[in-house]
Amino acid sequence: MNEKSHIPHPFELFGVECHKGWFELLKPIFSYVQEYNRDKEEEEQIKFLQIKEKWGSLDIYTNFSTFKLTKLIEEAEEKADHTCEECGSTKNIGVRLNGWVTTMCFECVKKEATESGYPQLWERNSDNKRFWIFPNNKVEEIEDITEENDNLKDNPYLLFEDNIV
Ligand SMILES: [Zn+2]
Repeated sequence: MNEKSHIPHPFELFGVECHKGWFELLKPIFSYVQEYNRDKEEEEQIKFLQIKEKWGSLDIYTNFSTFKLTKLIEEAEEKADHTCEECGSTKNIGVRLNGWVTTMCFECVKKEATESGYPQLWERNSDNKRFWIFPNNKVEEIEDITEENDNLKDNPYLLFEDNIV
C-alpha cells in the first residue's frame, strides 16, 4: 500500500475560515474540546459548526456549549478584535475598511497597499481615526469623517469603486 494515512491538523479538521494571525487564539478552545470529547460517544461530542471571520470579527459556532467553552469562545472573540488577523500582532491594530473588512495592524495594511497596488482605508482602534494608506507608504489622515464616509463603511465596495477605479 502506497497510501499514506493523512492525519488532519486541527485547523483543517475544524474547517477554520480565518487567517493565521488568529490561530493562536483558537488553541485553548481546541485543547478544551479535544479533552472534553476524549471519552465521549460520537453523539455526545462537541463539534465545531463554523469558525470564521465576518466583518473583521471572529465567529465560532458549535453544536452545543458548556459554561467553560462559552467563556473560552467569548475570550477568543474579544481578543480577535485587537489582534491582527494576518500576523497575530496586538500592536497598532485597526480595521481595514475597503474591500474585505479585516482586523489588521498598521504594518500589515502598509504591506497590503504595496502588494495589491491599491490604497487601503484603515480605522485605528485606539482613537477611531481613519487613514488612507497608499502603495508608496504615504499615509493620509482623513480629517473630516462625514456622513458619507459612514455610509461607505457599510458599503465598502462603493468606496473602492468611487475613489479608485
Ligand atoms: Zn499584522
